Amino acid sequence: MHPTLDARTVFYSFSPDLKPALRVDQNQEFILKTLDCFSGQIKSDQDLLDRLDWNHVNPATGPVFISGAMPGDIIGFDILGIKLGHDSRVVVAPGEGVPGEMISSMETVVLKHRENFLDFNGLAMLPFKPMVGVIGVAPKDRTIPNGTPERHGGNMDCRIITTGSRVYFEVEVEGALFGCGDLHSAQGDGEIGVSGAETSGEVRLKGTVYPKLKGLPTPFVETEDMVATIFSAESSDEAVRGAVKNMIHFLNHFAGISVNHAAMLMSMAGNLCFCQVVDPLKTVRFEFPKKVLPVLHVLNG
Ligand code: CA
Ligand code: ZN
Repeated sequence: MHPTLDARTVFYSFSPDLKPALRVDQNQEFILKTLDCFSGQIKSDQDLLDRLDWNHVNPATGPVFISGAMPGDIIGFDILGIKLGHDSRVVVAPGEGVPGEMISSMETVVLKHRENFLDFNGLAMLPFKPMVGVIGVAPKDRTIPNGTPERHGGNMDCRIITTGSRVYFEVEVEGALFGCGDLHSAQGDGEIGVSGAETSGEVRLKGTVYPKLKGLPTPFVETEDMVATIFSAESSDEAVRGAVKNMIHFLNHFAGISVNHAAMLMSMAGNLCFCQVVDPLKTVRFEFPKKVLPVLHVLNG
């Protein structure tokens, strides 16, 4: 049985003042049971966004203290498994999300989880694409509400953060003080309407410090076949620039590729993607395929 935190052990802001709820060793698997981003407040199609107690949104389960993780270290969290809850909810509201001005009334749809798909009231069948929306570590000198994505992670709503991915952060506080929540059973790039298919569930993880990766531009994601930088900023333009610059920096410092060649390779083989454009800061990622550069196998380990 892996060390487990239940879904009542949540926090709403990443902060250096958080008290560890669980202590684990590096490479030790642990399980976090999570609430949906509305803390379970939206149960039926009749529960609209104006019913929400906004002090209890975007809960993350944790914090988890990883032994030996010291400020300045790069820590990678492997997502080993995701279990989704029994249903999901998606919402719209006037003024919210990219199409906010086209939306004249609030609406909630609760989607049933069928065996192989999400049931949108019989109107549409969506494939399950589980992902973790909020994931991060405590920043050293600030308190950041879980709804905001930044360098420490947070509400990045990045759909490649899923089973089989490793998410790297720079440790700012001893033990890292890790937490995650806000599972989506499906979400498209951009999350344009302001929510994904929001669900509860559980995540199985392990965290490990990678001394060779000191200086990695974080947050950073590694999957079986790609690496990706993630950058959040006030405008999507700034986020685009940040994600691109971080990938150039990564290819330059960790793969020995010149800046010019990195720009060429990224222009030919990389993908610039929106994670989300609806949260307090916008989040962009730059994906680069591993197979293009054999030297990227330095990361495997
Ligand atoms: Ca989210
Ligand atoms: Zn969410």
